[in-house]
Amino acid sequence: MPAAGAVGLYVHVPFCSAICSYCNFNRGLLDEDLKRRYVAAVEREIERSADGCRVDSIFFGGGTPSLLAVEEVARILDACRAAFDVAPDTETTFEMNPESCGRSYVSALRDVGINRISLGVQSFDDEELARLGRVHTAAQARAAFVAIRGAGCDNVSLDLMLWLPAQSRAACAASVEALLALAPDHASLYMLELYPNAPLQEEAARRGWSQVPDEDAAAMYLDALSMTDAAGYRQYEISNVARPGRLSRHNLKYWRDGEWLGFGCGAHSTRGGSRWKNVSETARYVDAVEREAPVAESHRRLSMDERLGDALITGLRLVEGIRLAPIEERYGMDLRARYGAEVRKFVDAGWMVDAGDRWRLTRTGMLVSNDVLGTFV
Ligand code: SF4
Repeated sequence: MPAAGAVGLYVHVPFCSAICSYCNFNRGLLDEDLKRRYVAAVEREIERSADGCRVDSIFFGGGTPSLLAVEEVARILDACRAAFDVAPDTETTFEMNPESCGRSYVSALRDVGINRISLGVQSFDDEELARLGRVHTAAQARAAFVAIRGAGCDNVSLDLMLWLPAQSRAACAASVEALLALAPDHASLYMLELYPNAPLQEEAARRGWSQVPDEDAAAMYLDALSMTDAAGYRQYEISNVARPGRLSRHNLKYWRDGEWLGFGCGAHSTRGGSRWKNVSETARYVDAVEREAPVAESHRRLSMDERLGDALITGLRLVEGIRLAPIEERYGMDLRARYGAEVRKFVDAGWMVDAGDRWRLTRTGMLVSNDVLGTFV
């Protein structure tokens, strides 16, 4: 279990070796000179934020963190340890892409403190990977996984995307099967959501690659979860499954109303009832840090209503749902008085369970989570 009240640290690495055709994350193509200045800027930002608070999770996300040299990762981790009270057993996750994941690199990462790897596989079908603009093959993803295990990492998560353009229900199940054959400790199974004007959307329209209809997409999701259930994984969040003891401590902070500090361009932080976000553009971020100027472009105190809404919509993403009493106590709110009628409606529809002291979504409810969670905003 996470230490009570411990904070999570997120470090954003905005560089990629190619831009995937569905991606709208905050990222750009690798520029070595900018990367060198960026790492120094992140170190400095961490140093400027030093307050010695207890930390029990660190997450390097991107972009592609595996484009960093090990020595750069070590410097950022050293900065975290100097600025905060980092617990010895801190979960320290590093996102990697298969094309930049060799055994000696992972081994060296482990030596500097990385103890969890999240590998972006997305599909085990080479044609699907090519459609997505990924620069690796399924064989490279398997080799990367073997390299990670070979380097002694016993906490590995794989990311897979479902509902890809031109993907059949059977092809989707085949990718899940291929993932399970590797026996990762954790898996994230996301339904692809194409943002407006994504290059993939335009290309799919041009080439006639359509996504299967919604009811088949729902079947893909339910198939995938039945398969991970049967293989001994426990679903703990709408899109996440894990072996016992391998839930993502860091991501649970987002879902259990926790606190985190984000470093790097575009990183968000939530702490002490306030939320802020750093400037998104990499060069602007680096420039601001180098001038010792603030990097947060929005910083605001959240109202109690916003904090309550966040606690509900993130907590209900978890299979365990939310416990009413602690939230009512924290936010001074009678949840039944405020939301009881809506919850009864969702229970009648088979989308929620009201267990007295707890509300949670059913698996069917997870399929319509956007509609259900929208009620609590
Ligand atoms: S590797 Fe990840 S962050 Fe980079 S472009 Fe592809 S999906 Fe986006």
